[in-house]
Amino acid sequence: MAFTRITAVTLAVLAVAGPATAQAAEVPGLSGSSDPCTVALDPGHNGESTNTFDPVTGVLMADYPNGQEDVDALDIARAVRDRVEDAGVRVVLLKDSISDNVTYRERVDRAAAEDAVMGVSIHTTPGADAAEVYPQRVGGFRTGDGADGQSHKVTFGDAATAAESQRFSTMIAGARSVAELRGVPVTDLSFDGREGLWGGNLPVIALIADIPWVYNEFGSTTGGGAHGISAAEKARYVDGLSAGILAGVASSPTCGVAGSVGSALSS
Ligand SMILES: [Zn+2]
Repeated sequence: MAFTRITAVTLAVLAVAGPATAQAAEVPGLSGSSDPCTVALDPGHNGESTNTFDPVTGVLMADYPNGQEDVDALDIARAVRDRVEDAGVRVVLLKDSISDNVTYRERVDRAAAEDAVMGVSIHTTPGADAAEVYPQRVGGFRTGDGADGQSHKVTFGDAATAAESQRFSTMIAGARSVAELRGVPVTDLSFDGREGLWGGNLPVIALIADIPWVYNEFGSTTGGGAHGISAAEKARYVDGLSAGILAGVASSPTCGVAGSVGSALSS
């Protein structure tokens, strides 16, 4: 319920955000910047099965195509991009087509090169109770056999990035809760015992990202994952992600202040 209350306030702030004003240009940190803030959207799984080690951290980057999930996730990412860009925030997609072959390292490097303030992974999965948001946390990790055959552990340690990831995650989970008419918690997950994956509790892409990352699962009542989700479910997911991303960006220290979406961010 806490999420719902926070989000009602956040959405109200967004709703009353007015057109561009002179005041917005005077906000510290925005003066002199002509570029809107950028968000990186990461839709679904890789276009090809991939099983390589990250050259930077050594973590196993295993991913695979997942049929209709990838079609749905790209549709959702494009719709979120359109909604968010209409509010003056720049969006880059980390996959342009379903068949794109891009490792997690290539995705996070692209997001960083685009100066994204937030990366957002978009997934769907079976089960109405599986709607969840996973933030970065200090101490989050993955562990398994590395390229050298020895056991390794890669741990997330950037406190500032984790804090911003958790702040974004709370806003996105709150907005999603309102749009999806159910509680969407910010929580952790476990990869332990999953065939072909390192164990641990952070998605690999969030673990190796140097920018705040928010990993979303949309649990479907009728399908999810490779089974696909309905048009109504897609619409709710798009609404919640868009509102949550805008709330996060509007209150980002590097982008602006609450209420400035659509004015300061695009000025
Ligand atoms: Zn997925």
